[in-house]
Amino acid sequence: MRDLQELYQEVILDHNKRPRNFRVIPGSQNVARGANPLCGDQITVYLRVSGQIVEDVSFEGSGCAISTASASLMTEAVKTKSRADAEKLIETFHRVVTGTGLEDPAKLGKLVALAGVRDFPLRVKCATLAWHTLGAALDGHSHDLITTE
Ligand code: ZN
Repeated sequence: MRDLQELYQEVILDHNKRPRNFRVIPGSQNVARGANPLCGDQITVYLRVSGQIVEDVSFEGSGCAISTASASLMTEAVKTKSRADAEKLIETFHRVVTGTGLEDPAKLGKLVALAGVRDFPLRVKCATLAWHTLGAALDGHSHDLITTE
């Protein structure tokens, strides 16, 4: 198991160091801001939704390694997915990091790297912040600040 944990650690470090889709989507109609006051993580999620498809997704913000890596992995996982699949993935991810459901790791792809946070209750909010904020952006709650509290 040690090797696997090292691999997960590497995925998190890599996405923290070189976050994917770390940019603004100009003119985005689906924008949401999120904050995790407990850790100081802040994020803005931008979407470009066309019909039922999330054509583009990006984020900006500052936070700890877990929150940044989770946001980066989230953008990769959700891009080009349907709105319904993105919402399903939000639920799945939440179950995985809170340890409230057994999921097939194969279905999660790289996101499984974050499953280890379930052992660190304070970090769960770091990992879920981007996903809560994504949910708000999908709903078009562009003016609300989403907090994990
Ligand atoms: Zn954090």
